[in-house]
Amino acid sequence: MTDFSHCPDPFQYHRRPTREVRVGNLGIGGTNPIRVQSMTTTDTLDVDATVAQSIRMIDVGCELVRITAPSKREAERLKDIAAALRDKGYDTPLVADIHFTPNAAEVAADYVEKVRVNPGNYADKKRFENLEYTDETYAAELARIREKFTPLVRKCKLLGRAMRIGTNHGSLSDRIMSRYGDTALGMVESALEFLRICVAEDYHDVVVSMKSSNALVMVHAYRLLVARMNEEGMHFPLHLGVTEAGDGEDGRIKSALGIGTLLEDGLGDTVRVSLTEDPEAEMPVGRMLVERVESRAGHAPIEPVNTAWNPFELRRREAHPVLNVGGKNVPVVVHTMRDGALEPSSLFGAGYRYSVPLDKWNLDDDACDWVYVGDRVLNFDIPGTLHVLVDAHAWRAFDAPPERHHPLWHVSDWLANAPAPAEGCVHWVRVRRADIGEALRAHAANRRDVVWVVETENAHAMVDLRTAVLALDAHGLQGPAILRRTWTDLDEERLTLHAATDLGGPFLDGLGDGLWVDAPSHPLKKRNALAFGILQATRTRISKTEYISCPSCGRTLFDLQETTAKIRAVTHHLKGVKIGIMGCIVNGPGEMADADYGYVGTGPGKITLYKEKEVVQRNVPEDDAVDALIDLIKSHGDWVDAPVRDGF
Ligand code: SF4
Repeated sequence: MTDFSHCPDPFQYHRRPTREVRVGNLGIGGTNPIRVQSMTTTDTLDVDATVAQSIRMIDVGCELVRITAPSKREAERLKDIAAALRDKGYDTPLVADIHFTPNAAEVAADYVEKVRVNPGNYADKKRFENLEYTDETYAAELARIREKFTPLVRKCKLLGRAMRIGTNHGSLSDRIMSRYGDTALGMVESALEFLRICVAEDYHDVVVSMKSSNALVMVHAYRLLVARMNEEGMHFPLHLGVTEAGDGEDGRIKSALGIGTLLEDGLGDTVRVSLTEDPEAEMPVGRMLVERVESRAGHAPIEPVNTAWNPFELRRREAHPVLNVGGKNVPVVVHTMRDGALEPSSLFGAGYRYSVPLDKWNLDDDACDWVYVGDRVLNFDIPGTLHVLVDAHAWRAFDAPPERHHPLWHVSDWLANAPAPAEGCVHWVRVRRADIGEALRAHAANRRDVVWVVETENAHAMVDLRTAVLALDAHGLQGPAILRRTWTDLDEERLTLHAATDLGGPFLDGLGDGLWVDAPSHPLKKRNALAFGILQATRTRISKTEYISCPSCGRTLFDLQETTAKIRAVTHHLKGVKIGIMGCIVNGPGEMADADYGYVGTGPGKITLYKEKEVVQRNVPEDDAVDALIDLIKSHGDWVDAPVRDGF
């Protein structure tokens, strides 16, 4: 039986009950709306620039402004920043962001409404040592942490300040890494050690976060945190964020996948979207994610399913293969080609290019696998890797399908409507949660020629799709599952966020063998990029280079946006290579564990390069660092020249 302690209700939307934390004039948790916040990227010592940027953020909906305080000097400037904002009529609460420096935290608590501490580095220095602990020596370490952390807790309690215990996957302490490894459990324990100190001091104005650049790790860590807090009677609100999500569409996909998925399960009381863009750009994205669940209560009910799903671990559902779908195949991408003429150029947006002189198709890494053409016929030679899906009634009408189209596969609303099985023919059958029960089991259990196209119109879409796939399993229907949703009225940004949450979320639980983003008003190129982007972010199908770039903050030692663009321009074709680009060493070295190569600011104009988490070149002048990164990639055999594009 599944352990559902990770969320209030895994089938119907309920927001997790939490205690209210007051941050100045703002409430987080309890019955308050889910808050949207962000962080400045200016130098904190530059009071005017920080005030001006804070105002720009507040004006577009930022409800809490976080500002880095790397040392006591910056912490002292928070006084001037707060005063300037109040003078200009802005009473938005401020948060000091602290790493490594308890003394700066204690100063900041005098001036701002909330202090964020990172349990990975508040009382520990990172040396990447694997330490051996007995229970006694570990307890002695906890006593040392208590001694360092308690003064801040007492000060915040006395002054009525709030706190965030903000764990980052990339900056776990050596102590936690040695005992729990680089795991979601380690992240949770890291926070719990600090939370227990707060509780012992009878201080409860605490918000908790579990951030990672990997949405899978992040989602599992938050779920585990909730389960463990429930066990210990803790009801602290959650701050959600995917850290180092990157920029553009990929940054939005990763954010929706992590933040959106948790919001759907009723978790989260404040969100911060971390994009490698100006902080003002983060607010609309955060707001769009939050607004999706604000009116979710009262959605059409979802019939629960009794199954052995483990929400704390990734285990891919075992679906038998049907052609190239399911089994050990990577998830497939399916597109609808509903309108317009069907000709070779119709495929150009889906990763296929046609070379006229060579009379051959060329495939990009994001070439889709299936196209659905309704009741029409393709009258040209299609690429050999592409499969065509037609409606069942049209399939029946083709008494002698043209050679080049044989076999055609068909899709039908219900298995009973499907034509009699023919050799080499497979059935794609559309199902919703309500269709999946004993009748379907009697009809289709043990069939090995069926692909389930799992659809939903329920507003609680991600959960409905997840439940439907679990229900297939529970009824012994082991055919592969394609997740499909149709959107007719979303703008491009909302489509990205909704599709990443609704269709991507189940992939974080290993549920899904393919994606079908059906959005007729958006071009095929957009839908294709989105589908492959979602699969890349869930790490189930890699089709391009991955960038793990931080959003930058006042600690940043180079222009993150410009540098990320420069690195992307020369490495975008390195499929499967993960490149970390970090403004400073706070999260840099830890995040490198998840990257193949790292580019980390270590001093003004100085970059340190990493191969995974090993430093390979220190203090490279910034002007030479991109070339040095390329040389490093070449020296490890991961470089290929960018392909020369031929064809349309
Ligand atoms: S890694 Fe980036 S966002 Fe994080 S503290 Fe360093 S510069 Fe700031």
